[in-house]
Amino acid sequence: MSRGPGPFLFDIPGPNFYTVTMTKKKRLLPRFLLGSLFILVFMILFLELGSRLYREPDQNFPTFEWAVCDLDRYPQDEGKLVVIQELVGKKARGEKITREDLDRALISAPQDQMPNLNGVVCNQMIFISSRLPESARYYVARHELEHVFQQHGMDGDCQDWELCATWAAAWEFPLGLLRTITSSLREAYRISPSLWSFLFSSWRVFKFTLLPW
Ligand SMILES: [Zn+2]
Repeated sequence: MSRGPGPFLFDIPGPNFYTVTMTKKKRLLPRFLLGSLFILVFMILFLELGSRLYREPDQNFPTFEWAVCDLDRYPQDEGKLVVIQELVGKKARGEKITREDLDRALISAPQDQMPNLNGVVCNQMIFISSRLPESARYYVARHELEHVFQQHGMDGDCQDWELCATWAAAWEFPLGLLRTITSSLREAYRISPSLWSFLFSSWRVFKFTLLPW
């Protein structure tokens, strides 16, 4: 009986078989990496162009009123101002700012009193949205406190105030940063008029807070 072309069931694969299989595997990894890189570049370009060009069809730009910044509704709290001055002193002495410090300094306010914000410094007080989960609350409070330090000229070599505040807080509360991002995305999705608006505005916020350009 003559053997025709092609593999036979009981044939032992020769060295040639392994060479072919291994070469295939070796080629798969660079292709996967190249593919992922291509998708990543495409997504960044899409978000970047979209956030520059896209406009909501019937968008009346909402004017946000932050009640927390209105002194008639949120008058200065002497106790909080004293705590913040204490923390400025602590920072000047190079001492660590603790969670207890932040708890004493921050004022929790309902989200509708500070639309579109997680936290803000107004009239020398630190307001944090009560929407935020616990770890995010500390991260945001630390971020806002860093802005207070900046106002006191304590972040002298910083080139980008927003970025410096973000990284100062992220350094101490890395998990809080992640929770803040997920919580902010959920909130942005809730208030966005469309999916496109959500995607592009989130991209803008991401660039503004986390990237140095
Ligand atoms: Zn900020």
